[in-house]
Amino acid sequence: MAAPAKNSKTAALYIHIPFCTKRCDYCDFYTVANQEHIIPSYLAALETEIGHYAATPPWQIQHFSTIYFGGGTPSLLTPPQVQHIIKTLKRVFTFTDDTEVTFEVNPGSATQENMHGYVDAGVNRLSIGAQSFLPKELQQLDRVHSVDETIATVESVRGAGIGNLSIDLIFALPGQRPSNWRYSLERALELQPEHISAYNLTIEQGTPLQRSVAAGKVYPMSEGRQRLFYNHTIGFLEQHGYSHYEVSNYAKPGFESRHNSKYWDGSFYLGLGASAHSFDGRRRYWNVRSFAQYIKQLKHAQLPVAGEEMLTKPQREFETIMLGLRQKSGIDVRDFEREYEIDFQSKYRNQLTKLTSHVPPLIRWHESRLVLTREGWLLCDAVCAEFV
Ligand code: SF4
Repeated sequence: MAAPAKNSKTAALYIHIPFCTKRCDYCDFYTVANQEHIIPSYLAALETEIGHYAATPPWQIQHFSTIYFGGGTPSLLTPPQVQHIIKTLKRVFTFTDDTEVTFEVNPGSATQENMHGYVDAGVNRLSIGAQSFLPKELQQLDRVHSVDETIATVESVRGAGIGNLSIDLIFALPGQRPSNWRYSLERALELQPEHISAYNLTIEQGTPLQRSVAAGKVYPMSEGRQRLFYNHTIGFLEQHGYSHYEVSNYAKPGFESRHNSKYWDGSFYLGLGASAHSFDGRRRYWNVRSFAQYIKQLKHAQLPVAGEEMLTKPQREFETIMLGLRQKSGIDVRDFEREYEIDFQSKYRNQLTKLTSHVPPLIRWHESRLVLTREGWLLCDAVCAEFV
């Protein structure tokens, strides 16, 4: 077996909870609806998986600094279930004292009492899937919650003493008017979240939304128009004190998501649960998608890993460029050259010339860092593709 890659940074830990009360038309995550009765068996399997990695290199010697409960709808778990998972994790892995523990909540899925229970269990950051503040758009997205439930959930979060709240929003809905998107942004700001994730709606293969598009029942927004919405979002949120620190993420100073930042800065991450992905510096591997398969394999003392890839040096180089460019901080070229033992400017001369001489420029130098310009953000995927 190859020696584990070295890691000077703390690691991230992700737990996937694949249960939802109902599936939304646009959703591509691995989730199942109306299967809440499976949760106890799923959590038992999760505990077995935790036990395995707690005794496996490189995880047993890692220092973790984040835990993220994502889904699905983690708020379908009861506070004692969440407390049990966090206690188990803390017993078998090493965590920093200031570990960020994020919990995703869907509006209307957690009572005030539950919110207090999650906080008592150790949750210190909440992420609410608001998506829109217009009832018509929530219906269009096939969401089960109402705007009032979003507001009530934010009040519960604050009532439970959480000072680090993120709100998720989606823009570029088919037929969406700029004024409607602005309305949602304004309503979100009234709730004073420390962090906002604003995602461009993507039409994912195999989703009901994609089938409606293919059948000509729904017309997606044109790419040019999506860029206008995106540009407006960046300007509006920056104007209101939110730093645009990653393609879809905006934060008040000091409230950037530490967990997500670990995916982007090359840190190790351990993903537990059905469909979760892990990365140990060289190897990326992922679990089976089906929760039934996940439970079955762990019951039979088999790891639920469905596939893996060893990243080659060129792949790692490209990922470092792509993930770096997706962040406001950009690529630290000195670190890059040290890690990959190359002369960055010679190797990527053609790309640098093309992207800096574009009118307007798509990338620029900020001391020894290469960062996207405002125009570059709007064409981020195309800019990254230049480095393949
Ligand atoms: S609530 Fe979230 S995870 Fe569940 S189906 Fe809807 S978008 Fe997907």
